[in-house]
Amino acid sequence: MTTDYVLETKGLTHEYARPGRSPLPVLAGLDLQVREGEIAAVIGPSGSGKSTLLNILADLDKPSGGEVRVAGERGVAYMPQKDLLFPWRTIEDNAILGLEVAGVKKKAAREQVAPLFAEFGLDGFEYVYPAQLSGGMRQRAALLRTVAMNRPVLLLDEPFGALDSLTRTQMQLWLAETWQRHGWTIVLVTHDIREAVFLSDSVHVLSPRPARVTRRFEIDLPRPRGAGTFALPEFAGLERQLLDTLLGSSS
Ligand code: ADP
Ligand code: MG
Repeated sequence: MTTDYVLETKGLTHEYARPGRSPLPVLAGLDLQVREGEIAAVIGPSGSGKSTLLNILADLDKPSGGEVRVAGERGVAYMPQKDLLFPWRTIEDNAILGLEVAGVKKKAAREQVAPLFAEFGLDGFEYVYPAQLSGGMRQRAALLRTVAMNRPVLLLDEPFGALDSLTRTQMQLWLAETWQRHGWTIVLVTHDIREAVFLSDSVHVLSPRPARVTRRFEIDLPRPRGAGTFALPEFAGLERQLLDTLLGSSS
């Protein structure tokens, strides 16, 4: 594979063993190309294999076939679809969890995450417990924990999936702004067309299971993006093209 991308898969296949039945094919030759510093969305119907793909990219599961290449030695930080905060730990202690697992001492980990709280809208909430936060704040705390790992690539699995639509839009605006400052490379799994168009530089559209990429879109809407972006005529055009591709690939 070439080295133009920070993360790349080629012909990725995966199947799950099923007792007493033939294996379930989930990925069927999936090609993904992610450039440094971009937000690359992966959009596909529910059950198409998106979380399976991220598990493989995070090296939690071995693919049945094909290639995965992640540039550099430092790997990825993964926010799984159900990234639960531990209810008995404060937000700060949740935030340092990944670092602690990676062997960083508590005090050093706390110093490392401290500057992130203001940016994540969690200033003053370091010592409260997850149950005391709103849904949006809990998601930002889970994102903070992922970012705190300080890895070059973030894998986010439907990070705003469980939020009401207004909170979701607020989170999208916040992420666009925060990403603009940091320039993270993000693989964003979503089933929300509007979210994919608003946040991304490229969108990989998956077929229904077993998944492959039916089409890759470049989203060249101007940056920085904000509430006005949703009203751009090109925005509606891109939404329409994505919808057509998703519907076309499910017929
Ligand atoms: P998505 O995230 O796109 O909704 P998943 O990757 O979670 O899809 O799942 C794809 C398919 O693989 C689904 O049919 C799901 O039931 C199946 N699946 C997921 N994980 C496992 C597993 N560990 N063992 C067996 N089947 C699985
Ligand atoms: Mg999933």
